[in-house]
Amino acid sequence: MKAKNAKVKKPASKAKVAPKKTNKKVAKPAATKKVAAKKVVKAPAKAVAKKVATKKVVAKKTVTKKAPVKTATKVVNTNSQKTLEASLLELIRVTSTVIPDDVQKVILEALEREEKNTTAEYAMNIIKANIDLAKKKSQPLCQDTGTILFYVSHPVGFEQSKFTKLIEKAVVEATKKGYLRQNSVDSITGQNSGLNIGPGHPSIHYHEHAKNTVEVKLMLKGGGCENVGAQYSLPNTALGAGRDLDGVRKVILDAVYKAQGKGCGPGVLGVCIGGDRGAGYIESKEQLLRKLGDTNSMKVLADLEKEIVETSNKLGIGPMGFGGKTTLLGCKISALNRLPASFFVSISYMCWAFRRQGVELAANNEIKKWLY
Ligand code: SF4
Repeated sequence: MKAKNAKVKKPASKAKVAPKKTNKKVAKPAATKKVAAKKVVKAPAKAVAKKVATKKVVAKKTVTKKAPVKTATKVVNTNSQKTLEASLLELIRVTSTVIPDDVQKVILEALEREEKNTTAEYAMNIIKANIDLAKKKSQPLCQDTGTILFYVSHPVGFEQSKFTKLIEKAVVEATKKGYLRQNSVDSITGQNSGLNIGPGHPSIHYHEHAKNTVEVKLMLKGGGCENVGAQYSLPNTALGAGRDLDGVRKVILDAVYKAQGKGCGPGVLGVCIGGDRGAGYIESKEQLLRKLGDTNSMKVLADLEKEIVETSNKLGIGPMGFGGKTTLLGCKISALNRLPASFFVSISYMCWAFRRQGVELAANNEIKKWLY
């Protein structure tokens, strides 16, 4: 069963946040695009209306409404597409350069908890300074802008292939503007096209939902933290981990222990119990889309999440493995059904540079609401 955010705080309005995080250099073209876009919509609409009016005067009975309507629709669609490209580009910019509010909150709380004048406090202060600087300058939070993972929730009848093309266009544009590093290489030849486009990249996951709106979430997942992800098959005799929740707890803590000094902690875990190997990893990553402050709707998993964070933070691994009280910032767990023959535990590790954002699009494809 997929864990759900039971009581999620109201998302902070990015109408408020977006201007704050806007770097003047970068924001200008985006703002200009929006203004230009509005003009394009209005002008043709008026022109069309005039045409219709003129035709009515000249030959009232012979005028059919079909032709003008078709023209108007075409113009609106083209404009709408440009608006969508601009919205996707802005989503990428914000995701790459601004840490989400819920993540920043737990980072600041962790900084307060660390003892003064320790390496741990120093490391957390560097992280805080990095976050502030990236937002102020509208520059990537980390030089590794990571694997690009889109999660698109859409209504029935949505054109996925068209949307995919626009996402790819926005990714190329974001790469040119420096919001994304040229980060995608051919796995056989090692060649880098410099565009961040290729088989499986960006990775786009579509979900049909019952709402009329389109929601686009984006996660940028760094390579260092991806490398310390792990998948266990229970039972694991070396760890004394059986096919039960205690066995699950043991293997998760083993993954935390093995990740020490790697993956740029403090980190956040996304965990899936069960599923097959592929579904387990996908689900574990999707757990990272949950807000850090939420509570798992399944009490048994909520308790396990809490226990994993508390126990991990007593291990003394600390930020970047320097020692200290903060090894994990959060842990999110869900469960999928499995075959009786298999019991996988899949763990995705996210570094402190936890980049994920999301937007709800308006009918004209402008950003209506920020989701984190
Ligand atoms: S693991 Fe995260 S913080 Fe570390 S280099 Fe990669 S993206 Fe950056």
